[in-house]
Amino acid sequence: MEKEIIKNDDTLLQVPTLPDHGLTPDEVSEQLDKLQTLKHSDWHNGRVSGAVYHGGDDLLKLQVTAYDKYSVANQLHPDVFPGVRKMEAEVVHMVLDIFNAPETGCGSTTSGGTESLLLTGLAAREYARKHRGVTEPEVIAPVTIHAGIEKACFYFGMKLHKVDLDPVTFQVDVKKVEALINSNTVLLCGSAPNYPHGIIDDFEALSKLAVKYNIPLHVDACLGSFIVSFLEKSKVHGDKKIPLFDFRLPGVTSISCDTHKYGFAPKGSSIIMYRTPELRECQYYISSDWTGGMYGSPTLAGSRPGALVVGCWATLVNMGRDGYSKSCYEIVSATMKVKQALKSNKVLSKYLDVIGDPIGSVVSFQITPDQVQNLSIYEISDLLSKKGWHFATLQNPPGLHFALTRLTVPVVDELIEDLVRCTEEAIQITEQHKKEGNVKKQSDTAALYGIAGSIHTAGLADRLIVAFLDALYKV
Ligand SMILES: *Cc1c(COP(=O)(O)O)cnc(C)c1O
Repeated sequence: MEKEIIKNDDTLLQVPTLPDHGLTPDEVSEQLDKLQTLKHSDWHNGRVSGAVYHGGDDLLKLQVTAYDKYSVANQLHPDVFPGVRKMEAEVVHMVLDIFNAPETGCGSTTSGGTESLLLTGLAAREYARKHRGVTEPEVIAPVTIHAGIEKACFYFGMKLHKVDLDPVTFQVDVKKVEALINSNTVLLCGSAPNYPHGIIDDFEALSKLAVKYNIPLHVDACLGSFIVSFLEKSKVHGDKKIPLFDFRLPGVTSISCDTHKYGFAPKGSSIIMYRTPELRECQYYISSDWTGGMYGSPTLAGSRPGALVVGCWATLVNMGRDGYSKSCYEIVSATMKVKQALKSNKVLSKYLDVIGDPIGSVVSFQITPDQVQNLSIYEISDLLSKKGWHFATLQNPPGLHFALTRLTVPVVDELIEDLVRCTEEAIQITEQHKKEGNVKKQSDTAALYGIAGSIHTAGLADRLIVAFLDALYKV
């Protein structure tokens, strides 16, 4: 694992400790260039699922200009940086507007989707404590909810109920959600869409539950961001009705939207929105008697990188409604092409099943039930990797997904061709092994997920993840 992760090179300067004499800017710059040449997944050519949400080279230049002008800015000091305060307020307001927030709608910028989810969890817990006296808070969310909600429950001491999906739609089973609601429930969650399958939960039904039991409902649109909110406006699905998922549903009380995904803002940028200031207030940290003076902070961080919010503002006003509408149209059209190929191509439709009915930028698939004995989805994934494609691996059930970005749009036909080829190859490999009577040697990914899925190796998968995280910090 360390060999995979730790890339280094003799020609690079090794600096495990502070250099005695500082390097010149030219020397530093040279190192920065060299460091970019270390072997890595090639995202430039659009073969990586998600990861790099590129808004185009001109936009990148604009973001560098924004950083250049505001690199010292800090939102902690609105008196020093009044322009940054104005831009942050406008960014939040623009995003509230595209998610159809009411007059009372409000929110804040955060460092990313996970922070937005942490804050919505914290706010829900505090709101329930304040208004209902709940001391043993519980959250109900689909199994497909992002790990950030698990993290929120872990950090803030809440019990998380994970709910199964409807086997046909792959949306959360709303009846099971209702059965879990009790007097300790502080938050219901769903995704628009979720990360694993790209499926939007049935928010019209979830909203009815939220209203009936008077419990806050969070919509995780971190990934959906400027795709899901432009499905209607871009008319990418023609006149087909797009299911509601935003503040137009009365039960929806908070929404998270990652400006650093399909908003194309610089990384480190997300928005958490609330229906009312009473809810938002519950994420604030207030200390009126601190020795260091009266203190208040809206989000998890104290000091915040103002330059990032400036980069976000510059991006939003540069893209505009027409820009996002166009990018939504192109990305979703390409995704629908992949979905269609999976359903109609002779090889793909025989061996692979699209999971649910995705309408956004993510399509996921598993092996068809009658072929699972003959084929491993992880084998296909490893063959795709050899061709330079990085699909995301899923488990429970085993599957793969691809989140299309602007970079993937021009290579979508290649993606489909290579998917067909790799599926055929995986079938041949399996047949070969059968003919030779070999116990089939598993591909790397299959072996890894075999460990995670087996009771004989319980706890080992967790240790592997720890080893991975430890490896990140080896000099
Ligand atoms: C990306 C993502 C998030 C947040 O992830 P970050 O890495 O913290 O930005 C949350 N929910 C979904 C569905 C996502 O895809």
